[in-house]
Amino acid sequence: MPADLHIHTNQSDGTFSPEETVKLAAQGGLKTISLTDHDNVDGIEKAVQVGAEAGIEVIPGIELTTETAHAEVHILGYYLDYQAPRLLEVLEKIQKSRVERIHGIVAKLRAVGVEIEADEVFALSGEKSPGRPHVARVLIKKGIVGTFKEAFKRFLDFRAPAYVPHFKLTPGEAIKLINSVGGIAVFAHPAISNADELIPEMIADGLRGIEAYYISHYADQVDYYVKLARKDGLLLTGGSDFHGEDSGRESKLGDFSIPDELVDKLRDEHLRGN
Ligand code: AMP
Ligand code: ZN
Ligand code: FE
Ligand code: FE
Repeated sequence: MPADLHIHTNQSDGTFSPEETVKLAAQGGLKTISLTDHDNVDGIEKAVQVGAEAGIEVIPGIELTTETAHAEVHILGYYLDYQAPRLLEVLEKIQKSRVERIHGIVAKLRAVGVEIEADEVFALSGEKSPGRPHVARVLIKKGIVGTFKEAFKRFLDFRAPAYVPHFKLTPGEAIKLINSVGGIAVFAHPAISNADELIPEMIADGLRGIEAYYISHYADQVDYYVKLARKDGLLLTGGSDFHGEDSGRESKLGDFSIPDELVDKLRDEHLRGN
């Protein structure tokens, strides 16, 4: 049975709890999943436990938002020690910055005549990994916009009037952090990030895989990144970037999957390191 190695829960901007997510994965016919919440590992312990009961392997994961001067790059980390103090320290700093940023976004929205309260956003997100999708949900709920797409286009996208950045690592810092806590760093959805020129440097920093199989990658993009991974000796991973219901994404768990052989290779790499 197949695997999905890119899944969000309500510990970041997904809508289902870690427990619900594991159960939905089992119903969707998945055998292995990884929870890869944005800048957050709080759902992993529970998911691993529920997974063991449901007969699903849950690989600890994370998706770190990073940036360079020119691009936003998402780095996935697999099999990381999600209790390592040095990891939790960095995540806490990022999460504080994410919370402050919501206040900034609310102020910028107010400046263009849109009234929402930061607490309405935190009511959806908790004070851990609030993000632009939570703001989008509030804007939809209040009837200010009709869709996620409209919320981002009119207000939240980079260069839109309510865009506010938050503290981010560089790709190299994220890769080194993941490696330093026993994880395997993977370049997420490369065709979306448009930052291929950074790959050689990321490999030098310890990148070990590339997410060639991604739900919205076209077949020719998949082929391109599969070849690139083979040339550079990188692992191949894949996932659906599931975010739950009413998240601006339509897929259900099990709709998109990758074969077990790819998970076996990832696991082998992990076991080799230990
Ligand atoms: P943040 O990490 O708070 O900056 O929010 C980024 C997240 O917003 C991404 O991971 C996506 O899930 C989501 N996102 C970005 N652009 C869009 C868009 N145009 N429509 C819907 N969701 C988006
Ligand atoms: Zn997200
Ligand atoms: Fe991403
Ligand atoms: Fe994601």
